[in-house]
Amino acid sequence: MALTLFNSLSRQNELFVPLVDMNVGMYSCGPTVYNYPHIGNYRAYITSDILKRYLTYRGYTVHHIMNITDIDDKTIRDSQKEGKSLKEFTEFYTKGFFADRDTLHILPPEKYTKATEYIPHMVRMIETLLEKGYAYKTEDGSVYFDIKKDAEYGKLSHFKLTDLKENAEGRLAKKDEYEKENASDFALWKAWDESDGEVFWETTLGKGRPGWHIECSAMSIDTLGEGFDIHTGGVDNIFPHHENEIAQSECATGKPFSKYFIHNEHLMVDGAKMSKSAGNFYTLRDLDERGIDAIAFRMWLMTAHYRTKTNFTLETVTGSQTALNRLKETLQGYDTEQGKIVESYKETFISYMDNDLDTPKALALIWEIIKDPTLTPQDKRATIIDFDRVFGLGLSEIHEEIIPEEVTRLAEERELARKEKEWQKSDDLRAQIESLGYEIKDTNSGYKISKI
Ligand SMILES: [Zn+2]
Repeated sequence: MALTLFNSLSRQNELFVPLVDMNVGMYSCGPTVYNYPHIGNYRAYITSDILKRYLTYRGYTVHHIMNITDIDDKTIRDSQKEGKSLKEFTEFYTKGFFADRDTLHILPPEKYTKATEYIPHMVRMIETLLEKGYAYKTEDGSVYFDIKKDAEYGKLSHFKLTDLKENAEGRLAKKDEYEKENASDFALWKAWDESDGEVFWETTLGKGRPGWHIECSAMSIDTLGEGFDIHTGGVDNIFPHHENEIAQSECATGKPFSKYFIHNEHLMVDGAKMSKSAGNFYTLRDLDERGIDAIAFRMWLMTAHYRTKTNFTLETVTGSQTALNRLKETLQGYDTEQGKIVESYKETFISYMDNDLDTPKALALIWEIIKDPTLTPQDKRATIIDFDRVFGLGLSEIHEEIIPEEVTRLAEERELARKEKEWQKSDDLRAQIESLGYEIKDTNSGYKISKI
């Protein structure tokens, strides 16, 4: 048995072979922190979480990096609207994202890279592109990538530049986001203008700020090396974001960028694209108000393959909530004595997940195990909890779990720091607790620790 993944570069299921034996370098495009993410955004993070958990389950060591886009067109626009500094504004939404991540049982990456902390790396990369002749400066001091110089431009989106060349000729995209039909030279560095207000860096390229696409190239290469294994994101990232990342990175380094690109499909709501104006926009808070656990939402997402469009309705997610409740009750009724993982089911589980992460089939296996009259409750429980290392439904916590002493000590210390209003210390301790694989939640009756 071997893992195959659908690679957007070849548009085929490919055997997964990492560059370095049993080690995986994986980069996920993270959130642009300018509002609370909606449930559609979380499909991407849950997909990469399941992929990461499964690679770990299969024995790989995964080096996972996720970025936080804290500088781009949208963060500048909205921080100005609220009259806040970019830092204050983006930190608020970064915290919100982390809280949601924990609620959804998404494992934190090895490292979060904040775009504003990588400006010198971006500048160096842009200088290399200028030196190699792949980029040029315009009169206002901005730097653009010359897509005509890159013979492979379009290889991820699968279009030929010559088909679009007539339109592309001479056109510049200063905005970070645009459509494929408008393929054009895109901004690597945006010279300061009044609309940027206080947001700029004085660099060897002049006074300005980076374009969005160069951010991920610089951060992924700095943390994972010039070539790495997996890049993830939503299908909406394919063009222009990932296409441009590939172009910049490969032209700058002369080496292949990411070997596999894994993209999840959109999540529709009530049959339409989610939007505030259509009144079908949900955040995790909205689900909570309707009595839907974040984990029921996670489970619901896994009932569809990550590459199919799914249609979210309150009715179907309520069905998953009922199923999750029933599953928990069933497990609660089982003997907690140590059982054995049933090998035949494990093999089936692996064969489904090896096939481009077929979670709908893998998840359905749980119900087959529960119904199997030949298995003891202990073995059923042990097998389901083993699979849950990948599903992340928190099934192992159903029975009272023993929290390690070290975690309890850190939690007590954090409680003390909170009482003293030492927020930074309290945040640091939370991070330490998370690095040990536990999360801490503050409730009216004190803190609660659970396994991530
Ligand atoms: Zn990105």
